[in-house]
Amino acid sequence: MLRIAIQSKGRLNEESTALLREIGIDVDDSKRKFLSTARNFPVEMLYLRDDDIPQVVSNGTASLGIVGLNEVEERGFDVKIVKKLGFGNCRISLAVPKAAGYDGLQWFEGKRIATSYPNILSAFLKSKDIHAEIEVITGSVEVAPAAGIADAIFDIVSSGSTLVSNALVEVEKVFWSEAVLISSGHLSLEQEELLDKILFRLESATVSRGKKYILMNIPQDAVDKATTILPAMRSPTVMPLASEGWCSLHSVVDEDELWDKISQLKAIGAEGILVLNIDKIIP
Ligand code: ATP
Ligand code: MG
Repeated sequence: MLRIAIQSKGRLNEESTALLREIGIDVDDSKRKFLSTARNFPVEMLYLRDDDIPQVVSNGTASLGIVGLNEVEERGFDVKIVKKLGFGNCRISLAVPKAAGYDGLQWFEGKRIATSYPNILSAFLKSKDIHAEIEVITGSVEVAPAAGIADAIFDIVSSGSTLVSNALVEVEKVFWSEAVLISSGHLSLEQEELLDKILFRLESATVSRGKKYILMNIPQDAVDKATTILPAMRSPTVMPLASEGWCSLHSVVDEDELWDKISQLKAIGAEGILVLNIDKIIP
């Protein structure tokens, strides 16, 4: 049995649950539960505040955890980062009031900076040899300058809209974060085997993310060109059609490139293009 700690509610909860479901681990999304067992895989879910996840993993209360890299770095507990999960992306940045006349890092010398990430901030300031006062605030850091509590803030930014609405400008991007799978590094043989299974499935979930299956009819003499447009995993699958001189071509493309590829394929004579969702890719 493996115990996995995930955030009980908040920004990472839904995507953590969705990811586990995607890899065939049926977890409850009951927000009131503290502990629940998956129906179809020997894992138990432990629902916690994200702040507590690095600690419970490092002391072995949970074998694995899903948490932001920012929390792992800030808390400083001894855990192993097993895999980056590609969601919950954000950065921690220094931001100052728009009217502050920011002119470079030296601006922070002797200033007061409000943050919920004192350890990451003090390591950064130290590396730049800047002496500033750190005011630890746990919520609504962005209002600190207007409230006169600090001159600047060091906080999580994703779209930047919170900064704009508080008349702040992001001036230094310091730490990049995303959700990560962490482990205690002290797993039994049986737990290691379960972790291997999870990693294998995660690999396939990551590979298929953002991919589409595309198939079309194409004149025989355009196949070579189509192959260069659609490299696919090995190469596209080409099958002859009943009508002379035509083939059916199947491939996998990145969703980001889909419309570009479609225009290129149409230009070389592709017809009847179908685009389908992919459930799983097992590399
Ligand atoms: P908890 O109650 O579990 O302590 P919280 O309020 O500390 O929750 P959330 O706001 O739910 O935390 O954010 C959880 C994590 O989501 C952050 O630590 C960070 O890794 C990630 N994240 C991604 N984008 C953002 C964002 N725009 N603002 C805050 N966190 C973000
Ligand atoms: Mg928290």
